[in-house]
Amino acid sequence: MSEALLSEEAVAFQEQVRLFVEREIAPQAQRWDHEERYPRELFKKLGDLGWLGTAFPESVGGSGGGSVLYAVLCAELARGSAAVALGLYVHTALASSAVLHLGNDEQRQRILPPALRGEQVGCWAYAEAGAGADVASVATRAVRQGDDYVLDGSKLYITNAPFADFMVVVASTEPERGLKGLSLFLVERGRQGVQTGKPMQKLGMGASEMSEIVFDACRVPASNLLGREGTGFLEAMRVLTLGRIAAASFGVGLGRAALEAALAHTRERVQFGKPLTKQQFVRFTLADMATRLEAAWQLTLGAARLVDAGEPHDKEASMAKLFASETATWACERALHLCGAQGYMRESPAQRFYRDCKVLELGEGTSEIQRETIARCLGA
Ligand SMILES: Cc1cc2nc3c(=O)[nH]c(=O)nc-3n(C[C@H](O)[C@H](O)[C@H](O)COP(=O)(O)OP(=O)(O)OC[C@H]3O[C@@H](n4cnc5c(N)ncnc54)[C@H](O)[C@@H]3O)c2cc1C
Repeated sequence: MSEALLSEEAVAFQEQVRLFVEREIAPQAQRWDHEERYPRELFKKLGDLGWLGTAFPESVGGSGGGSVLYAVLCAELARGSAAVALGLYVHTALASSAVLHLGNDEQRQRILPPALRGEQVGCWAYAEAGAGADVASVATRAVRQGDDYVLDGSKLYITNAPFADFMVVVASTEPERGLKGLSLFLVERGRQGVQTGKPMQKLGMGASEMSEIVFDACRVPASNLLGREGTGFLEAMRVLTLGRIAAASFGVGLGRAALEAALAHTRERVQFGKPLTKQQFVRFTLADMATRLEAAWQLTLGAARLVDAGEPHDKEASMAKLFASETATWACERALHLCGAQGYMRESPAQRFYRDCKVLELGEGTSEIQRETIARCLGA
């Protein structure tokens, strides 16, 4: 991740995050992956440092750092542990961001200050057994009854759900209107009729906890509706572009970690009487990895700058997310290849990177959805 394109402030921030990650996260990442959890207190530490609020205004407890600094934060965290970065992204770029952009003043002041201090953690509950890329298929229902809405249905694959204090839930208020009938609700843990399942076991992102959430006649006050009924989700898709910047930054950070692992291994490993780094194929692979990751980083920073400047950025955010996630998958596979059998062993970070990266192409809009967005922006 070249520093050349970063401001002095961003370089200093990057250094600060890097030191924290090297001290508090990277040495534990492998163990957390095996244990399938990381300490929840990490959110509090990141909150105390003011980093959870990087992309949030000061009026709600953020630090107003903006999207470029947020990209730096996500990339550095992912370099240490992609699973930790995933938890932070869901909490900040999705759950808390939805409250910031769609919530009213009361909701913002109630939810965001403790969320950005890391005292409360959020999750984003959209996916269902029948609703993945096809958003209009959401079957969870929210029916207005007097001053409340009653939620019924279930959500699947929800990151942070096993411990989240608040959930931003996508539910249908008017099923016959498809996408235009979807609304967003705040649901606090502890409400009657909401239950989270056992943590689900995954290929990668082992330390990031995920589960099902079941809503069974769960009653929430109408004041927990986020945004306007029926337009909440469409509006969320329009404003929650920070998620694509975050996902792109993960790709860069994770790919960078894979490159560093491959470089360290091939410098040390001697075959045919010399280190692997003296073989042209290995040198060229490392060079290609570094080049593609730098291109991904520059696309990501470009998109983040547009966000900060208040310029249109839909196409650029999708390009960054698409390119960085596919580059990460490619780079992590190449890194594992260069690390050989040693990289394939469970104690090797290379195999963790290889397992962690794939989800970046699936979450936050799959690669196909990003290509659709880019094609639409081109007028195709
Ligand atoms: C580790 C992890 C964490 C997650 N965390 C969360 C979370 O916190 N909250 C949440 O709501 N969800 C979460 N998800 C779920 C995520 O939202 C879904 O994976 C995503 O929406 C894609 O849905 P799907 O996996 O059901 O794929 P599907 O929609 O079944 O798609 C399968 C494949 O078909 C392709 N496809 C589908 N439709 C089309 C089309 N029209 N044209 C071309 N190709 C198409 C897709 O691109 C994909 O490659 C998580 C998933 C994972 C793996």
